[in-house]
Amino acid sequence: MTDPQLPTHLIHHPYQPPAGFVAPQPAVHKASTVIFENVAAMRARQWLDKSSYTYGLHGTPTTFTLEERLCALEGGLQCLLVPSGLAAIANVSLSLLRTGEHMLLPDNAYGPNKTLAHGELAQFGIGHDGYDPMSIDDLAARIRPETRLVWLEAPGSVTMEFPDLVAMVRLCRERGLICVLDNTWGAGLAFRPFDLLGDGALGVDATVHALTKYPSGGGDVLMGSIITRDPGLGMRLKLTHMRLGLGVSGNDAETVLRSLPSIALRYQAQDRTARALARWLAEQPAVAQVLHPAMQGSPGHASWKALCGGDQGEGVAAGLFSVVIDPAHGQEAVDRFCDSLQLFKIGYSWGGPMSLVVPYELPSMRGCATPQIRSGTVVRFAIGLEAQADLRADLQQALTQAFGA
Ligand SMILES: *Cc1c(COP(=O)(O)O)cnc(C)c1O
Repeated sequence: MTDPQLPTHLIHHPYQPPAGFVAPQPAVHKASTVIFENVAAMRARQWLDKSSYTYGLHGTPTTFTLEERLCALEGGLQCLLVPSGLAAIANVSLSLLRTGEHMLLPDNAYGPNKTLAHGELAQFGIGHDGYDPMSIDDLAARIRPETRLVWLEAPGSVTMEFPDLVAMVRLCRERGLICVLDNTWGAGLAFRPFDLLGDGALGVDATVHALTKYPSGGGDVLMGSIITRDPGLGMRLKLTHMRLGLGVSGNDAETVLRSLPSIALRYQAQDRTARALARWLAEQPAVAQVLHPAMQGSPGHASWKALCGGDQGEGVAAGLFSVVIDPAHGQEAVDRFCDSLQLFKIGYSWGGPMSLVVPYELPSMRGCATPQIRSGTVVRFAIGLEAQADLRADLQQALTQAFGA
């Protein structure tokens, strides 16, 4: 018979490891419950700031560390972690909009952002409209007296149009509208969303990220962030975050912390390969158009160049682009092309080690006219970390199989 006190002893064990353990990566702290020294300490703790710990949902050393590092990446001051990029979008819209109010979304927005607008937001009596991401005049014309929030994406993540972000943020400022950028593509690396002109004079009010993409880099974690610079706005978003019960696991936070040091290298490598393949694809007979903001002639290229072009060199872009397949080739041939690819796997998301491909049916996704996109089927590529020559050979054999060229 074991000691009857053993279970208690195993839970309330006196051992404390020595302090001062230092390693490259921060520790993984996991908690629902946080232990207080005494009742007075429990009553004194304040979850609203990050000076102490109260409950797992309100943060641990691991999540606080990730939040601070993401603020450094983005140029923000407050960060909230949520279970997915979509949860970050939902947290923002649910927090900032009331019944009778209205928001504007770019016509090329991340699809589920629109779905939320059609679903719960409409159900709560919150209106929305799409605006043409290529037209500042269209955005201005769609602002109503009850408009409160403008969503921005640079570029749209399927058709890759890069908007005139500076003009759009200026317009939102002039009209007193909160503007929130889905900065998953920029990842904090392509441009500074809170300091668009480099002089501290102009920035978005908040950004959301799918940390699922570049910050995770593995295709194996779902997480999102909301980053702000204004403490009042940060607190509004945080109160909604708390009331909705959003939080992330310590293990997932650690996975992102582990990938974060290499984000700039991975981003750069995927950018380089994506641009080389996009240039090569532009020369293939089956390809009617390449949609990559860093390529001349791509919709919004000048806006990309102004914001991400840098003073010299090639500028910065993510490893994501689309092509429009010549309409002479029908949907079946395009599907055959995607199915014929060996290294490119068919799957959503991006920013991971494996290259991915998805065909899209554009007309069903858009409300505004899209004269900037040629007719034909859109195929989006997310470039991974494979060797460029192998990816090119894979594209070549699939083009030949599907289109005979
Ligand atoms: C993937 C993605 C999201 C959503 O992220 P999840 O973590 O998959 O919910 C939001 N915005 C953009 C632009 C994305 O690509």
